[in-house]
Amino acid sequence: MASENKDGEQHRHQEVGHKSLLQSDALYQYILETSVYPREPEPMKELRDITAKHPWNLMTTSADEGQFLGMLLKLINAKNTMEIGVYTGYSLLATALALPDDGKILAMDINRENFEIGLPVIQKAGVAHKIDFREGPALPVLDQLVEDAKNHGSFDFVFVDADKDNYINYHKRLLELVKVGGVIAYDNTLWNGSVVAPPDAPMRKYIRYYRDFVIELNKALAADERIEICQLPVGDGVTICRRVK
Ligand code: SAM
Ligand code: CA
Repeated sequence: MASENKDGEQHRHQEVGHKSLLQSDALYQYILETSVYPREPEPMKELRDITAKHPWNLMTTSADEGQFLGMLLKLINAKNTMEIGVYTGYSLLATALALPDDGKILAMDINRENFEIGLPVIQKAGVAHKIDFREGPALPVLDQLVEDAKNHGSFDFVFVDADKDNYINYHKRLLELVKVGGVIAYDNTLWNGSVVAPPDAPMRKYIRYYRDFVIELNKALAADERIEICQLPVGDGVTICRRVK
């Protein structure tokens, strides 16, 4: 993404997975080089390098967001988790590494091929046993889970990073599946900054398509009394929701 710093200088983000909305690339680079890369587990670095060569690498979670997810999971002592939207598995690996050895991740994606790019790295890291990957759309899987009362309140954490036009549908179901005190994290809630762009601003087609869904989601989350929320400018914006009712 081309951006402009406060001196009016045009430049390109260099890092794969860089979707940060920070005004200065130098500041973002500082965060990565000072606090993120030196502490990035070796398998995550390997998967990041492999993903960088993939044509859809724009979709990957950035290294700073991966670090954030790992920290959050440890802070809440997450054990039973879910991920919607896996791609090559960078956030999945961050999750798998953060969970205890008997932790679980129900991981869903319509595309298995990309998951298989990351799978050898996940296996080598010794955390593949925590992952139950399901190929296909996530919504029917959630519906199936909701049908069985024993799944209600059974998840500690869910990372939602897939089709933005379905987030509100995921939310309805996830609120039954996540425990009171559990966390749902919705990714890309600042949607490349487009949430504040005038409607006639030039935008890539997919950004324009999902923009209104993201705006509506943000309003709905802010008005939802069953959750406490915190929207962070990490990556492309991530909204942390804690179920309170
Ligand atoms: N979390 C991933 C990472 O760290 O690399 C990035 C996920 S990528 C932004 C979004 C993914 O959502 C894609 O791999 C896509 O195939 C998947 N997806 C799209 N629609 C979906 C659906 N209805 N159900 C499940 N996955 C879906
Ligand atoms: Ca994302």
